[in-house]
Formats: sequence, structure tokens, C-alpha cells
Amino acid sequence: MMTQPERTIAAISTAYGESGIGIVRMSGPSAKAIASRIFVPYRGSNASQNQKQSPTEAFAFVPRHLHYGHIVDPKTAETVDEVLCVFMKAPHTYTGEDLVEIQCHGSTASLRRILSVCLENGAEMAERGEFTKLAFLNGRIDLAQAEAVIDVIKAKTDKSLETAVSQMQGKLSEKVKAVRQQLLDLLVLLTVNMDYPDEDIEVATYGKIEESLEAIRSGISALLENADEGKILREGLSVAIVGKPNVGKSSLMNLFLGEHRSIVTDIPGTTRDTIEEQISLRGIPLRLTDTAGIRETSDVVEAIGVDRSKDAFNKADLVLLLLDSSRPLSEDDISLMKAAEGKPCIAVLNKTDLAPCVSEVDVKEYLKTAQIISTSLLNDEGIEQLKDAMEALITGGKVRREEDILVSNTRHIQLLKNALGEVNEALSMTRAGEAMDFLEVNANAAFQYLGEITGDTASGEIIDEVFARFCLGK
Ligand code: GDP
Repeated sequence: MMTQPERTIAAISTAYGESGIGIVRMSGPSAKAIASRIFVPYRGSNASQNQKQSPTEAFAFVPRHLHYGHIVDPKTAETVDEVLCVFMKAPHTYTGEDLVEIQCHGSTASLRRILSVCLENGAEMAERGEFTKLAFLNGRIDLAQAEAVIDVIKAKTDKSLETAVSQMQGKLSEKVKAVRQQLLDLLVLLTVNMDYPDEDIEVATYGKIEESLEAIRSGISALLENADEGKILREGLSVAIVGKPNVGKSSLMNLFLGEHRSIVTDIPGTTRDTIEEQISLRGIPLRLTDTAGIRETSDVVEAIGVDRSKDAFNKADLVLLLLDSSRPLSEDDISLMKAAEGKPCIAVLNKTDLAPCVSEVDVKEYLKTAQIISTSLLNDEGIEQLKDAMEALITGGKVRREEDILVSNTRHIQLLKNALGEVNEALSMTRAGEAMDFLEVNANAAFQYLGEITGDTASGEIIDEVFARFCLGK
């Protein structure tokens, strides 16, 4: 995707569907001229209708002023919609170019018509993420900040929004750049010692190189350390609800969802398939999977569901294993408990409102590692305790420090790992006293990898790939 400087792009920037207002955005050198041609300002209630809506002369925008008027198709003189229009002058705009935003009514028809009037008058249809790409190409933001824009748009919970905003403000980039600067200093030191060994310069001793490589390594490790938590915030954590039929899996799912999403019945085996739902548990996004009853079965339809359950069980980050406290533990319960041993799991001993048959001590006998929470889903009892336990398990009981920068992007995690690999390699070569040319190669590779995070060394293809993840109009 090439972005030529002479291009003026336009797109609908708000979501499709019915809404109070919608925005069509134009960026580029002709944005103002096009807007002047199609926007007719309101000249007061005393002006005649004709005067109000005739696109006779080009309108002179005052930068950053909100102008009230109409979009009028210059070709047909037809009024498209009543709008508010703002012109922002380059370079202090989102894209770094002249930018026009037309706020119209949020119907698909109005937005489409206004966009097509823009296109007919010289604008070109923007590609996915092109507005943000321009911001990147014009040096307003770096690649990691641009990626954070997508995360901000897609954020579903307070915590993931907070992380994305911090990255958008350049907090991650600052850290990466600091480590990169240390690498650059090292590279300079190595290069001058290799190229000008006789000059009166700082001597690169192996001890000194090792020291700076270690500092670099801990910098990268610190960023990687919170990568897992960042990934959770971004993608959500997968939680599988498992248990034999009729223990209350659907009831639990419904309680989490706050609505009757899956069917609750008295007939064992009615949840035939797995159902995945997104919820927010105190700001942490969770992907909940309600599984069909896991048990040996000859029923073909149910067998498919059982396979999926086992799959979900193995893949889940956290398993909620449901047991019925009013009935003796069955073979199925026991085999599930055995399978859950050692995994991140919470045993939910349900139906405590009925006459007890199984106690927490009985469960402990088979499942030593899991925490046990007693509930009566029917009476809404034990739910908060269950949520507390889930939260504690997910955040590992540690409260995130405010200044922590979360590495939430899979792309960034991979690049950090690559960089760490190169630094480790350079370190072991330094310790073995290998020639400086060799370790320079690894240090340089690490420098390149880190540069890909911020976009300093990213290829055109990588950049295109990043922006292809955007929605149109951003
Ligand atoms: P699933 O087959 O594991 O999904 O179980 P369901 O959620 O469909 O529940 C099976 C039956 O148990 C339903 O009739 C529920 O109303 C009932 N049930 C669920 N939780 C409780 C509980 O805590 N106490 C009692 N008495 N019944 C419950």
C-alpha cells in the first residue's frame, strides 16, 4: 500500500448502522478545497432558502472552528444532510496533513452519500488504517503507538483500555527505545574498537561489554515478564466450564452472562455443543466455554460435544470443574478430577442447598491442587467467592504496578524474544572471549529486532501487515 503525498483520502470513520451522528473524514492537500466545494454554511434564519443552500462560492473555513451548514452536491444542487464541519490545518492533525471532518446524521444512507460526494469531488477512497498509517509515515507516532490505536478501538474492558492508552501514549516505545539506545552505544563502542584500534578512544574490554549486555538483557526481560498478563488483557483468558451432565454448567454460564444464553434443563446431556462467550470479570476479559458433559458415550451427537469438551479442557487457561454435592462422586467426576490435577483449576461444589452427600474433604482426596468453592447456583450463593478465587488465580494475587508497561502485542513478544536470543548469544560469546566482529553481529540483530517494534527498522511489508488489521476510516 503506497501513500502518495498528493493523495487526498476519504472514508466513513464511524460504525455502520443507525446512530445519532456519524463522521466522514478527509485527509490530504485537497481536503479543504473539496470541503469548501460541498459545504454550504448556514447564514442565519433571515437568509432566503436559496441563499442558505446554494453552493455558489467556495466556503472559507476558519481552522479548528466548527461550522454549521449543509452538504450540497455541487452537481445536482441537492442538499444531502445537515452537518457540522471542521477543518484542521497540517501539520498538527491526526494524520499530519490537512484534515476535514464532516459530522452528519449517523445513517448509512447519509454517510454513504456524503462520502460519495467527497469522492466525486476529488477525494480517493482510503484504505484500511490509512489515516493512522499517515500519522506513522509523517512521524507523528511510531509503529507500536499505531498498533495501540487498534487496541484502543477494540478494547472491551477498562483494564485493556488502560493498557492500550498507555502504549498509544508511547510508554512502551520509550522503554524499547531506551534499551535500543544501550545497544547502539555498545555497537558504537565495538565498531570504533574494531575499525580504529590505534586511536585514542574508549577501550572495549570484555568485562565492559559483558556488563552492558547484561543491562540490555535485563531491560528486555523486564518487558517480556509482563507479556503474559498483557496478552490476557488483550485477548482474554480462556476459561472452560467442565463437569458431568446436570451439575449446573449452563446455570453457571448464565449467571456469568447475566442472561439465559444456554438452555438449562433437567435432562442430562442437553448442552450438546460447546458455547463460547466473552465476559468481563472485574475488568479482565474472559472467554468462557461451556462444555457438553464429559463422559464416555455412545451417542454420536454427544460424542462430538465430548471431544470438544476435552479439547477445551486441555486448551483452557483456567478450568472450572463443577461437581454435584448432593450426589455421590461418580466415575466421571473422579476421572475429571484426576485430569484436572496440577492444572489451573477451581473445583465448584454446587447444589449446596440440597442434602449434602459430598464434602470439600472428599474432593480434596482426588484433587489436591485445586481450590474448592461451594455454591448454590440456584440461590446465587458462593458466586462472589468464586469470582474472588478466579481473579486471584488470574492475576496471581499480585497487584499490577501502575508504571508497568504491558507488552500486549503478540508481534512485540516475538520480537522481544528474538532480541533476547541474540543478546544471550552475544553474552556467551563475550564470556568465551570470541572476536568482537562476531558478537557485533548478534548485537546488531537485537538492535534491528527492537527497531521493528517501534517501526524504525520495519520493512514495508511489516508496516502494511500492521495497518491491514485496522478498520476502514481509522
Ligand atoms: P448442566 O447440564 O451441567 O449444564 O446443568 P444445568 O445448568 O442445565 O443444570 C441442571 C439442573 O440443575 C437444572 O434443573 C438446574 O436448575 C439445576 N441446578 C443448577 N444449580 C443448582 C443448585 O445450586 N441447586 C439446585 N438445587 N439445583 C441446581
